[in-house]
Amino acid sequence: MDRYKFPEVHQKLLESIQVPFAIYQFVNQRVATIVVSDGFLKLLGYEDRTRAYYDMEHNMYRNTHPDDVARVADAAIRFAREGGDYDVIYRSRTDGNPEYHIIHALGKHVSTDTGVRLAQVWYTDEGSYSEANGAHGNGLISALTNALHEESLLRAYQYDHLTGLPSMTYFFQLAEAGKEAIRAEGGEAVFLFFDLDGMKLFNARYGFAEGDRLLRSFAEVLVRTFSNENCCHIGADHFGVFTEEKGLIEILNQLYADCRKLNGGNSLPIRTGIYLNSMEDVPISIAFDRAKFACDGLRNTYGSGFNYYRKALGEDMERRQYILDNLDIAIEEKWLQVFYQPIVRAVNGRVCDEEALARWIDPVMGFLSPAEFIPFLEESKQIYKMDLYVLEQVLKKIRIIKDAGLYVVPQSINLSRSDFDACDIVEEIRRRVDDAGVGRDKITIEITESIIGRDFDFIRKQISRIRALGFQVWMDDFGSGYSSLDVLQSVKFDLIKFDMSFMKRLDEGENAKVILTELMKMATSLGVDTVCEGVETEEQVRFLQEIGCSKLQGYYYLKPTPLDKVLERYERGIQIGFENPRESAYYDTMGRVNLYDLSFLAVTDDHILENTFDTVPIGIMEVNGTRDKVQYVRSNQSFRLFMKRAFGFDISNPDTEYSVPLSGPGSEFMRTVEQCRFNGNRAFVNEDLADGSTAHSFVRRIGENPVNGKLSVAIAVLSITEPNEGTTYANIAKALAADYYNLYYINMETGRYIEYGSNVGGEQLVVEKRGADFFGATLEAALPHFYEEDREKVRKGCTKEKVLEALNEYGVFTLTYRIVEDGKPLEVFMKGMRMHNDDNHIILGVSGVAHYRN
Ligand code: C2E
Ligand code: MG
Ligand code: MG
Repeated sequence: MDRYKFPEVHQKLLESIQVPFAIYQFVNQRVATIVVSDGFLKLLGYEDRTRAYYDMEHNMYRNTHPDDVARVADAAIRFAREGGDYDVIYRSRTDGNPEYHIIHALGKHVSTDTGVRLAQVWYTDEGSYSEANGAHGNGLISALTNALHEESLLRAYQYDHLTGLPSMTYFFQLAEAGKEAIRAEGGEAVFLFFDLDGMKLFNARYGFAEGDRLLRSFAEVLVRTFSNENCCHIGADHFGVFTEEKGLIEILNQLYADCRKLNGGNSLPIRTGIYLNSMEDVPISIAFDRAKFACDGLRNTYGSGFNYYRKALGEDMERRQYILDNLDIAIEEKWLQVFYQPIVRAVNGRVCDEEALARWIDPVMGFLSPAEFIPFLEESKQIYKMDLYVLEQVLKKIRIIKDAGLYVVPQSINLSRSDFDACDIVEEIRRRVDDAGVGRDKITIEITESIIGRDFDFIRKQISRIRALGFQVWMDDFGSGYSSLDVLQSVKFDLIKFDMSFMKRLDEGENAKVILTELMKMATSLGVDTVCEGVETEEQVRFLQEIGCSKLQGYYYLKPTPLDKVLERYERGIQIGFENPRESAYYDTMGRVNLYDLSFLAVTDDHILENTFDTVPIGIMEVNGTRDKVQYVRSNQSFRLFMKRAFGFDISNPDTEYSVPLSGPGSEFMRTVEQCRFNGNRAFVNEDLADGSTAHSFVRRIGENPVNGKLSVAIAVLSITEPNEGTTYANIAKALAADYYNLYYINMETGRYIEYGSNVGGEQLVVEKRGADFFGATLEAALPHFYEEDREKVRKGCTKEKVLEALNEYGVFTLTYRIVEDGKPLEVFMKGMRMHNDDNHIILGVSGVAHYRN
């Protein structure tokens, strides 16, 4: 329908009337202003009529009190559509004037001689209104109060409460008509979907009131740019607009610039999806769906920007609709399936965990991988259904595996962000696991790094809840986003899963290796386990073993596989083999030892000097239960080089077994290893090598396998002395220390101490243990080993005060007493001295004198 035009003389005459009135016409579902009188201009404070027409066209209610806009607009629309009388009271003011006046508007319809229906509206200024005093004039106060009450009911109906923009239903009518009008003028309509990026976080950070303020000021910019009746607040931080295609990009860029200044600069980037109606004339709701879909395509971009809906997106969108419509059927009909991918222990090559991964095998669409359906389920907040279904399948599978007599290793399931919004996912998981009678330690929850970035505190709380219940929580896809390190500082995970992009980058150069090595080291320092995913080659496996990655996952071992295929592999004997869960703790500890190796940086062996290594050679040796065979299960390159030089062993294959020498080179070393099982877990060993040089190493017991009795120790080669260099300080110290039964390094202030023990005359000095309260509990506990008659003497003579007194007076503290050995009294000599340059610590030694002859 075209706008009505009065003949020019009539128009002029009507405009010159001094009484405030206006003539409107309802065209294309909106109110068009045909005439405003001089009186009207005065009432609203306009000096320029063109400006008044412009404002009436673009934002008719700009000077109406915000609380009255929805009601007035609604009355106007109803009057226009349904006829009858127009009778509203509202508050309005002139531009830039803070004071509101109460306006009473009365309207009637008239028909022109050509049958066009027009509305005449007369305005009366009923005086000024102030919030504090209320309106002047009693009748008006109650009229206004009633009106305001009515207002609150109406808002929800035609206009949005927060922004005063048309509600969605009304907006769709406006857009339908507007589209036709634009086309009638030779243009094309476009539909825009706006999304404020990061609104949730904004609310969390600044509070909802500030968030609302931002939304309102964004709505104001939209109204300024596109006019009130072209915009809609769809909900949350989403807005819709229809407008003309021409000049759109400049307009959007201007809008983005304006938005940066919004809310005093405390603003957010704006993402816009665009649907061009020229592509295909579709119903308004579909046009906006498409615009939204294009907008969603910007989800992983940062900053303001726009995206056009394209045909290919359309196919996605059809699939999206299909997926959303069929999720329940897919679960029921088992189109949705769970595949399992093994996670393999680096040190023993066995499956120590499995990850459950969803697949959609559709009768129409065929095989769909998660990337093809998960985003839709996430966005529609339906993924919790799938994730709980996956969990239920996993719980069933655990029973099947148990019944088949196989080891049950922990099963990982993946959670998405929207799982936490849709339901109390933590409780849902707990209930299902407990009801199935499955141990909580058998279910691991993987949470991708990207979902932690948003709503940090909320997710952190959920993660601690899950862990407190006894489930493990792993951080998935570590390193794929930006927040990784921040997150690690404040959220506790049991394991970090390195994103497969690390594997892809490994081939690109040394930097990638250095970074991964350092990150691995960091994980170890945090006491967190590690997995690398996307492992595809043997070289990658080698490298990861070397830098101490505890678990590996990838096509190198197996692709995700359905359960029946996993079982079939067992039947055919081609399985990787599950780890016995009783051994898991043993291997966990072994895997965590960091070999701190950057030796791959060495260019070639030639550049490494004889007998020196660019990093401390460290290896992990496993001795079998019968103690006659060893394997070097993990080692860094320096250690492999050392073994090659010193013994001619090529230990690069961790499966190779070596016999334990009973005499000659290596035999003493093995005895120390065995000894440190019982004696304090650690030992220093000096080992004479074939070329006459001596290797000085440190051995630490890592653990014992409860299933097969294997013992694992870490060996670090600290130094190698040249042949005939003979006496090192360490040798001297060792020789002297060998005279003592025990040596104590005591902090005189705290009583804390380290005890070093050795067999008298024995070869090696073994670091024993740390303790607290030397002069109290420790001495007291030792007394029963002393000869009975001497006990009181020691109790009285070896006190902190007595020791300090002697040290101050003579520089040395001594005490002789008898202990009981093999039932006989044995005289021993206790001697204490201050550490050099250290008043706070003393060394106290106990040595044997001779058998007490009696
Ligand atoms: P994700 O949890 O990081 O899973 C690892 C993905 O890497 C899997 O892809 C797996 O098939 C793939 N992959 C494993 N080894 C290799 C390899 O050596 N090379 C290559 N190129 N890829 C490898 P998939 O199964 O397509 O899953 C993709 C993502 O979908 C998953 O990443 C996870 O975030 C999500 N997802 C899968 N299943 C579920 C589920 O049940 N629930 C939820 N919420 N998300 C799931
Ligand atoms: Mg995962
Ligand atoms: Mg992953």
